[in-house]
Amino acid sequence: MMTDIEIADQAEMKPIKEIAAQIGLGEDDIEQYGKYKAKISLPVKAHPDKKHKLVLVTSINPTPAGEGKSTVLVGLGDALNQLGHQTIIAMREPSMGPVFGIKGGATGGGYSQVVPMEDINLHFTGDLHALTSANNTLAALIDNYIMRGNELGLDPRRIIWKRVEDVNDRALRNVVTGLGGLMQGVPRQTGFDITAASELMAILCLSTDLMDLKKRVGQIVVGYSYDKQPVTVGELGFADAITILLKDAIKPNLVQTLDHTPTIIHGGPFANIAHGCNSVLATQTALQLADYTVTESGFGADLGAEKFMDIKRRVLGKNPDAVVIVATVRALEYNGGAALADLKDENLPELKKGLANLNRHIKNMQRYGVPLVVAINHFATDTPAEIKMIEDNCKALGVNVVTADAWAKGGAGTQDLAQEVVRLADQDSDFHELYSLDASPADKVRIVATKIYGAKDVEFSRKAQRQLKQFAELGWDKLPVCIAKTQYSFTDDQTQLGAPTDFTFHIREFVPKLGAGFIVALSGNMMTMPGLSKVPAAVNMTIDKDGKITGLF
Ligand code: ADP
Repeated sequence: MMTDIEIADQAEMKPIKEIAAQIGLGEDDIEQYGKYKAKISLPVKAHPDKKHKLVLVTSINPTPAGEGKSTVLVGLGDALNQLGHQTIIAMREPSMGPVFGIKGGATGGGYSQVVPMEDINLHFTGDLHALTSANNTLAALIDNYIMRGNELGLDPRRIIWKRVEDVNDRALRNVVTGLGGLMQGVPRQTGFDITAASELMAILCLSTDLMDLKKRVGQIVVGYSYDKQPVTVGELGFADAITILLKDAIKPNLVQTLDHTPTIIHGGPFANIAHGCNSVLATQTALQLADYTVTESGFGADLGAEKFMDIKRRVLGKNPDAVVIVATVRALEYNGGAALADLKDENLPELKKGLANLNRHIKNMQRYGVPLVVAINHFATDTPAEIKMIEDNCKALGVNVVTADAWAKGGAGTQDLAQEVVRLADQDSDFHELYSLDASPADKVRIVATKIYGAKDVEFSRKAQRQLKQFAELGWDKLPVCIAKTQYSFTDDQTQLGAPTDFTFHIREFVPKLGAGFIVALSGNMMTMPGLSKVPAAVNMTIDKDGKITGLF
């Protein structure tokens, strides 16, 4: 059986200008990065005759290897086009942290992949580097400001702006900068986050154009003064400089699937420690140019989809017309207590137990009032009895369920799902918001935790309670909340799989992200800089004298 990278290597890609032409973009509408990648020049003119349907692909709680959400997304895009429904895929760009860590890339798998996969998973068009540079330029400007007079009285102990890098690097979670004497800066304790969790990444993903991005950069709170007043980038006078560094990164990237479906890949916040959705500009561009836009949000529907509905959707101004929940036999069995090593075997008792996880995600998505279908991402090891058990469970709930063979057969294996999605997207939906922006941040967290996660109650640390009071005084309480939580569990404890009930959810701290336009709530011991595992993916990679890579996936 060929690996993802071997299949991708054999792809016969079309020149990117042909892919652009397929969606009505001429050579002046794109900026080519080599032969197979391009950035789309903004603004894009909407095609009024299109259907502008939006389909969101999400999943159950995953195993550490992922559940094939991107694979099903890509297969679905291909299948829709094969059936004559003009479709563009919109997805996130991978971070090199997980690529060299455990999870692998984000370009799908098997015969449902986006190419050129090596480029996309490595440096791509440089967006993550631009974000990293912009973020760290701001950090250097702040430190310089403190050293050179500090007119606004920024308190070095209260700076919340951290440096970032696109690497899983636990050794940099906590650092002291400015050591070495008078001319080396003012010493202070700080730390690094991964770029995917940075506020600039969220801003890039939520901005509607370059001037909106600049406005949001100006609103970033970098820290507090000695008299505890927030200090913003705008007050410091750095907003234009930081925006300049992002002027190209804000443009969405165009690539193609193995089957030449146009795919816009742009922005890559993680869904556990950030808001987990590709950029608004990517989704909006696709919506303007296509009958069907299929997009994804990261990890399970408790994280990515909730944040899509409660954060991104508000900026996008468009509700999904249909939702696909991807489930696998493997992940359901894992959620039902099966060991990772046993997931290739038939485990019906664990599967039965693990279905509670799927059922909670179904109920949660139904709460938003959007038509939904469950897609079983088919693995070669699945048995007919396992598939039947999932189908019977969904039928008993009155929920449609389709098996998708996107990995082994590409779009040809995903056509049943595509047909169901078209049917659903044509139905009337009655979207309900989970919470109103008028609710307090504490209530917003309570609503998500009790209604989506199934918690009994929420406990806020003393620090978090103090912050809630302060945020209300500062008028920051009308923003949505972005909860940082483990992707493996509905709770804040990653070992609690399935669908736990009767638990207390813990918030230890809030981080205001006024530029992004949300308040981050850190739950449990969630870190915004991941670490590497005992045997990182990097260990199994090779490159030869011709530059041929193996082991990337
Ligand atoms: P997610 O988007 O849920 O994180 P991905 O689509 O990135 O998951 O898939 C994760 C990995 O699992 C990829 O390496 C992919 O090739 C593999 N994979 C996905 N679906 C299947 C399948 N049905 N059979 C075999 N491998 C699969």
